[in-house]
Amino acid sequence: EFIKKYANHPHYFAPVGNELHAKSWQTEAPLRMLLNNLNAEVAENPDELVVYGGIGQAARDRKSLQKIIEILLELDEEHSLLVQSGKPVGIVRTHPQAPRVLIANSNLVPRWATWEHFNELRSKGLMMFGQMTAGSWIYIGTQGILQGTYETFMSCGKQHFNGDLSGKLIVTAGLGGMGGAQPLAATMAGAVFLAADVDAERIKKRIETKYIDRMTDNYEEAKRWVKEALQKRETLSVGLVSNAGDMLEKLLNDNIIPDILTDQTSAHDPINGYIPNGFSLEEALKLRKEDPELYKEKSLKSMARHVSLMLQLKKKGAITFDYGNNIREFAKQGGELNAFDFPGFTPEYIRPLFCEGKGPFRWVALSGDPQDIYTTDEALIKAFPENTHLVNWLKMAKEKIAFQGLPARICWLGMGEREKAGLLFNDLVRTGKVKGPIVIGRDHLDCGSVASPNRETESMKDGSDAVSDWPLLNLMSNTAGGATWVSFHHGGGVGMGYSQHAGMVVLADGTDRAAECLKRVLFNDPAMGIFRHADAGYEKAEEVAEQFGIKI
Ligand code: NAD
Repeated sequence: EFIKKYANHPHYFAPVGNELHAKSWQTEAPLRMLLNNLNAEVAENPDELVVYGGIGQAARDRKSLQKIIEILLELDEEHSLLVQSGKPVGIVRTHPQAPRVLIANSNLVPRWATWEHFNELRSKGLMMFGQMTAGSWIYIGTQGILQGTYETFMSCGKQHFNGDLSGKLIVTAGLGGMGGAQPLAATMAGAVFLAADVDAERIKKRIETKYIDRMTDNYEEAKRWVKEALQKRETLSVGLVSNAGDMLEKLLNDNIIPDILTDQTSAHDPINGYIPNGFSLEEALKLRKEDPELYKEKSLKSMARHVSLMLQLKKKGAITFDYGNNIREFAKQGGELNAFDFPGFTPEYIRPLFCEGKGPFRWVALSGDPQDIYTTDEALIKAFPENTHLVNWLKMAKEKIAFQGLPARICWLGMGEREKAGLLFNDLVRTGKVKGPIVIGRDHLDCGSVASPNRETESMKDGSDAVSDWPLLNLMSNTAGGATWVSFHHGGGVGMGYSQHAGMVVLADGTDRAAECLKRVLFNDPAMGIFRHADAGYEKAEEVAEQFGIKI
C-alpha cells in the first residue's frame, strides 16, 4: 500500500503530516527524506534514481529502494539498518540513541579508486555513486548550495570589487542540481549573470523554480540582454543553451571579459557527467553508451579547451576560480598543463569560515508545512539578532526561494550556533509551535567532514590535503554522538579517487532523547572543523577553540 502510494516508480514523494507510517520518527525521518530526495521537484532524474551531481543516486536500484522502504517501515529502536552503496545488506543490534541507518557509498580501496574500476562494478550492479547528499538522503534541491554560492560570490566581491557587485558580470556554466543555484546567488549578490548549459531542459527547470530569469539558445540575444543589464546596473540572470567552451570562445572573440569566471558543469565525471564540445546532447548521449573510451578521450580534450579559454579570460582580467568540480584535474589530463594556474574556491573564499566551524547547516520540516520553516526562520532571527548577515540571509531566503519537495532551509552556522539552533528547533517541536519534527543535516562539504585535495582541503597550511583520517573521525564522532543516520562516501564533488567524506542527519522530534543527541552531535560536528584546522596550524581555529572551551 505504502509503496504504491509513495514510491510508484517514477513518482516518488514523501508522506507529509503528523501521522507515522514507520514505528517512530527515528525511522519515519529517513524514510521521508529518502523519498523526498527522489521527488521529481527535487531530483534531476528520478526515473534512474539520480538526485543530482552527474549520476549521484539515492538507492542502487528499484529493488533495493523498495527493500529499504520496507525495512524502515518495520525497524524498531533497538536495531539499525546497514546500507552498502544504495543496497540494504543487514540489520544490526543497537540502542535508541544510536543511528537508525548506517550508510557507506562508493568506497574503494585507494589503489582501485578510479572511475574505470567503479564503472565496471556499477555496470555489474555492485555499486552506485552516492555523490554527497544524494546517497545520504539529505539533498534539499538547489537551495542546498544556494547560500554557499552566495557567500562565495559575496566574498569574491569583497576581495576584488569593494563589496559591490552591481554592474559586474559573472560567467559560468552548468545549470544542473547544484550549478542551478548560481544564477539566483548571483542576482541576490547584485550581479549580472550569464551561464551556458547544453541541456535546455535543465535551464527550463531553473526558470520554473525561479532560480534564473531568462533563457535563450541565441548567443547574440543573451549578449544583448546582459549588456543592457550591465549598463543599467540592474540584476539579471541569463541561461544560454550552449556548450560551455563554445560560449567562452565567443565572449573572448567579442572581448567581453567577465568580472568573475567559474564553472559548475559535471566535470568531476568525464564519462557520465561532462558533455564534450562538437556534439549535440543527443549525439553525446549516444556516444557515451556506445564507446565510453572514445567519449572519455573527447571529454578530457574538451575540458582542456574549456580551461584554456578560462585561462585566456583570466589573463584579460577575469577573476577565475574552480568551483569544486575538479575541472582543472581533468583538463590537465586532457592536455592543458597550466590548468592549475587558477585557484579553487575553498582556499580563496571558504577556509576562513571553516576555521570558525562554519558550514552548510540545513533543516527540513517533516510535516511538509512551509509555515514550519517560516517559524524556524523567525526563531533564528530572534535567537541571533547580532548576526546581521544571518538575519539578512533568512529574510532574503524567505522572499526569494521556492521550496522543492519538503520545505527546507539552509544557512551557514558555526561552532556554538548549530547546537543552539538544534535545541531551539527541538523546543519548537516539543511545544507544538511547529506541526511536526524537524531533521537537521548538512552537506558533506563542511569544515571537518571531508578530505578533498582539489577542493575543500586544497592548499592546507601544513600540506595535509590528502589526509582522510579526519572525515573518518567525523563519522565516528557522529555515530558515537547519536546522529539519526550517518554516512561515509568516496568521490563526491570531484570524482573517484579525489575525495572521502562523511555525512550526518540528526532528528529534532521534541523528546529528551533528541535533545541529548542534538547536544552531542551539533557540538562534535563543527568541533571537528576546529580540530582539523587548528591541527593544520590555522590560528583562527585555535582562537575559536579557546572561545568555546574545545579541548584540543
Ligand atoms: P548536474 O549533473 O546536476 O548538472 C551538471 C550540468 O552541466 C548539466 O545540466 C549538464 O547539462 C551541464 N553540462 C555538462 N557538460 C557541459 C558542457 N560541456 N557545457 C555546458 N553544460 C554542460 O550536477 P550539479 O549537481 O549541478 O553539480 C555540478 C558540478 O559541481 C559537479 O561536478 C559537482 O560535483 C560540483 N559541485 C560543486 C559544489 C560546490 O559547492 N562548489 C557543490 C556540489 C557540487
